[in-house]
Amino acid sequence: MSHEWETIEFQGSNRLQCTKCGLMPAAPEAMALPCSDEIPQKPPMKKLTKPEFDMWLRQYPRELERDVFGAAEPPFVTWNDFTIAPQWPQSIVASTVAESGEYFVRSDL
Ligand SMILES: [Zn+2]
Repeated sequence: MSHEWETIEFQGSNRLQCTKCGLMPAAPEAMALPCSDEIPQKPPMKKLTKPEFDMWLRQYPRELERDVFGAAEPPFVTWNDFTIAPQWPQSIVASTVAESGEYFVRSDL
């Protein structure tokens, strides 16, 4: 099944997003991924304290890319593992809303 692309505004620039599966390809090769009509399931997340969260990030086995989604107020900060999924937001393994004091990580990793 092929994607149906539309142009959306994302983080201040125009990006392609599939209207069927929600994919936003970060790189041209991601556009070759198969399309699914199903909206991707939100991965299970668990809430951690700040010390637990810092420890979790330190012990994470792969390199993480920090991303600040500044279009949200307060900013939404995510840590991404692009070996799990080639595009945001499926790549998110940890997140926090700035100044919230609440920290979340994937509970299935
Ligand atoms: Zn698609």
